[in-house]
Amino acid sequence: MSNSIETFSEAETQIEPPEAFRKAARISSREQYERLYRESLDAPDAFWKRELSELTFRSPWTELVEWKLPHAKWFKGATLNITESCLDRHLGTTTRDKVALLWEGESGATRSITYAELTRQVQSCTAALRSLGVQQGDRVAIYMGMVPEVVVAMLACARIGATHTVVFGGFAAESLRDRINDCGAKVVLTQDGAPRRGAPVPLKQTVDEALRSTPSVQHVVVYRHMKDTVQIQMQPGRDLDWAELLAKHAGTGSSAPANSEPAIVDAEHPLFILYTSGSTGKPKGILHTTAGYLAGVHVSTKYVFDLQPNDVYWCTADVGWVTGHSYLVYGPLSNGATCLIYEGAPNYPDWGRFWQIIDRHKVTILYTAPTAIRAFIKAGDEWVEKASLASLRLLGTVGEPINPEVWMWYHEKVGKRRCPIVDTWWQTETGAIMTVTLPGAVPAKPGVTGLPFFGVEPDVVTQDGQTVPPGEGGSFVQRRPWPSMLRTIWGDDERYRQQYFSDIPGYYFSGDGAYRDKDGYFRVVGRIDDVLNVSGHRIGTAEIESVLVAHPSVAEAAAVGRPDDLKGQALVAFVTLKPGFSASPSAAEDLRQQVAKEIGKFARPDEIRFADGLPKTRSGKIMRRLLKDIAAGREIKGDLSTLEDRSILDKLSK
Ligand code: ATP
Ligand code: MG
Repeated sequence: MSNSIETFSEAETQIEPPEAFRKAARISSREQYERLYRESLDAPDAFWKRELSELTFRSPWTELVEWKLPHAKWFKGATLNITESCLDRHLGTTTRDKVALLWEGESGATRSITYAELTRQVQSCTAALRSLGVQQGDRVAIYMGMVPEVVVAMLACARIGATHTVVFGGFAAESLRDRINDCGAKVVLTQDGAPRRGAPVPLKQTVDEALRSTPSVQHVVVYRHMKDTVQIQMQPGRDLDWAELLAKHAGTGSSAPANSEPAIVDAEHPLFILYTSGSTGKPKGILHTTAGYLAGVHVSTKYVFDLQPNDVYWCTADVGWVTGHSYLVYGPLSNGATCLIYEGAPNYPDWGRFWQIIDRHKVTILYTAPTAIRAFIKAGDEWVEKASLASLRLLGTVGEPINPEVWMWYHEKVGKRRCPIVDTWWQTETGAIMTVTLPGAVPAKPGVTGLPFFGVEPDVVTQDGQTVPPGEGGSFVQRRPWPSMLRTIWGDDERYRQQYFSDIPGYYFSGDGAYRDKDGYFRVVGRIDDVLNVSGHRIGTAEIESVLVAHPSVAEAAAVGRPDDLKGQALVAFVTLKPGFSASPSAAEDLRQQVAKEIGKFARPDEIRFADGLPKTRSGKIMRRLLKDIAAGREIKGDLSTLEDRSILDKLSK
């Protein structure tokens, strides 16, 4: 039996970039893309020298990359501080007075902060943290909501050369404690509370709980965001008030606060540690370093989002995930963009909130996740139809394979067929976008991520590293190191080697399965470990799920295998329905027939299980590993810290 994954592509749809978009785009043809791409691989030194020339390096690199598998050092010999590229470099230009952060609170309050103001706040925070003893090389944990201060906190750490680890504000005390202890954070930056659907999430209280057993932590700095509604207890000697502390380091007049100058660090200095989503297992502390990461996010933000000076750019990801790091903070700021930050839930007070935000702030670029789009579809078209959305010119998606049906809804209802969609495949580990259809250059294909981004060389290979022919599925790998790649798993270099470089010798293995089509586009078919093996046919989860989601009644679907004596694996599909549809044996039969018709009889699910909701990570990804246990009637095993809603599991297990 062949080991490759079979692919059952639906009739191929191609959506050309609208002519108006193409004309004004930074990269406007496949030829232009190919030329730059070839240069990025064949003459990388020249490519990176030119593309990074606008950024601030204190001393240039002497060697582009040193690759001793599995360890890469990029831009050897260069020194810099990333905040000089994100902040200081803009102060001598008109960007100085441009809005850097455009914030909307869940309550509806708004703030706008210019590059000059943001720089000043970062300087104050830098001096304040230094006064608490934070130095280059220390770790600092950040456990905050979506407020401008979280950006200030990250940049202040980077300015000191302290490595930040942002922990998503939805995590419970144990998860926070484990992350703090894993990296040995010296200081925790937090806020009293963050509003979530009208009620405060008590962040400071959770920090207090976590800190009962975190010997490394010396100080906690608390930003008072909800003074009137959230009571907190400050522990004398340990806890400090953000505003009071920063006020002491405000500087006078136009002169910068004392001790706020950036630490000039080596290119490979650790910038941040970030724990992965935990879709497939216990989260891993991914380490990113300075110059390579900056290079990757700067160039990808500019070209993937076709950034133009007047854009109002909105990435909806929480800053606690890598998308929030790369495309809410470092990439947009290094490019001098205006970034919108929305604090609250997408359905508060109702499902129209995102669309009102876009109209209110004239958002031009929207970058969000399939899970959000599926939720909007389920909520009903009336919400999105009420808004104008005329300001939008480009849409993006990341996080999971997007079902073609969901892609089309995004294209029609949100983009009004006017906006290209960039389906960006990447990982916490890759630091920056790896495959995409550059929006003015090439047509997009619903459900297909696209072509390699500059400087990366993906491939689809067999277990022993042989490239498979177009149309055949296999392991999605990287053949060469790229600047923004992870450097290690914090404190566990052996796990780094095992996890990413042991399955397929010589290559970085992402853990995903994919195939390349005849145009060179990559399509991700799901996690390799989730590949279904039905009567000898190996099928990616995305293939089956997309057929189910294409049915008018289905909101979300997850396909998993259950051990079966006869077939090897029986196929179980968990399905949630749109409002107005109800579960019944005939509805299940209908869905089974749909899969048989679209893919083949062998792929017909043995069981359809209707559910109110699917188990997801806190970043919104379907956790198939838990569904596998449920389908097999096994006890649910493994790390549950990233599961968003435990009650869903209880309901499903019944
Ligand atoms: P863990 O590694 O802890 O199991 P995770 O893989 O979900 O969690 P992330 O780094 O947040 O952690 O997610 C990266 C993964 O998300 C990719 O490996 C891929 O499976 C999926 N992914 C992201 N973007 C896309 C996309 N555009 N198309 C298909 N899959 C995507
Ligand atoms: Mg992963």
